[in-house]
Amino acid sequence: MTNAPMTNDPMTNDNNITHALSFDIEDWFHIVEIKAAEDPDRWGSFPSIVERETEKILGILDEFEVRATFFILGWIAERYPKLVGRIADGGHEIGTHSFWHRKVYELTPDVFHEDLHDSIDVLQQHAGVEVRGFRAPSFSITPGTEWAFDIIRQVGLQYDASLFPAKRAHGGYPCDLGPHILSDPEADPLPELPMSVLRWGPGRFCFSGGGYFRLLPMRIIRHGIRQMQQAERPAVVYLHPRDFAADCPSAAMPLYRRFKCYVGQKTTEPKLRRLLQDYRFATCHEVLQQYGLVPIEELPAEIDTSEQLPKRGKAPT
Ligand SMILES: [Zn+2]
Repeated sequence: MTNAPMTNDPMTNDNNITHALSFDIEDWFHIVEIKAAEDPDRWGSFPSIVERETEKILGILDEFEVRATFFILGWIAERYPKLVGRIADGGHEIGTHSFWHRKVYELTPDVFHEDLHDSIDVLQQHAGVEVRGFRAPSFSITPGTEWAFDIIRQVGLQYDASLFPAKRAHGGYPCDLGPHILSDPEADPLPELPMSVLRWGPGRFCFSGGGYFRLLPMRIIRHGIRQMQQAERPAVVYLHPRDFAADCPSAAMPLYRRFKCYVGQKTTEPKLRRLLQDYRFATCHEVLQQYGLVPIEELPAEIDTSEQLPKRGKAPT
């Protein structure tokens, strides 16, 4: 476990909770619901920011000696294999964010199984280590798609980090607010690390990731983390390479989505630096280990990468 430098501010360190730091590694055009993202055949023709911004993230984490979980898209791993290797070489955890970035509730169980399996194959091939966790694109495991939990277990993953315990446009799943075991009498238990939410009156709001992290002032983000700490729960921070890119390319989209996707990029790095200075962070797997929910393993198992994988074609529709 890596310890970030800590301050002596009692408002930040009211107990010794270690929070989870995660990055969903995809490009700017993988944002859902924009025309440009719909055809994977076009993805290769867009300017890319994923390598440049991920390198920036790796540099910041090195500086603070913090390890994080990188939930990487299979499509990104196939296109930028050396990037996956550099993330793994930095001691970070490699997780999967699916292969094609499709919302789980729009897929059949068979298509989801194939997509998840393909993503794990390509990630393990380039990382050389076992993939143990999954985060669904857009937190898209919703009530009615519980079959996804069985498939996550079937492909050999140890945990899920896809549930968002509040209402949102593409997801939302009522569940415990801290790390817990999803139990179903008919299936094996699955450890879950849900997204953090800030309770405000009767409402629940995300504060610790993506557009919320960029748009909210630091004092609200700290308030959310403090609320999690007081409940003895870890906060889960999730960011994307595009959250750091002030010059992020854009595409035609409704004004409200443009605001959510393209405001506040300049604030992401300074805010992340403040968090790394003031709180303790680790990978999602390490946080779940602390709660006794996954096996205690210092390092993920090494994978034999001598077998060449076939390149994936177009996403099946
Ligand atoms: Zn995503």
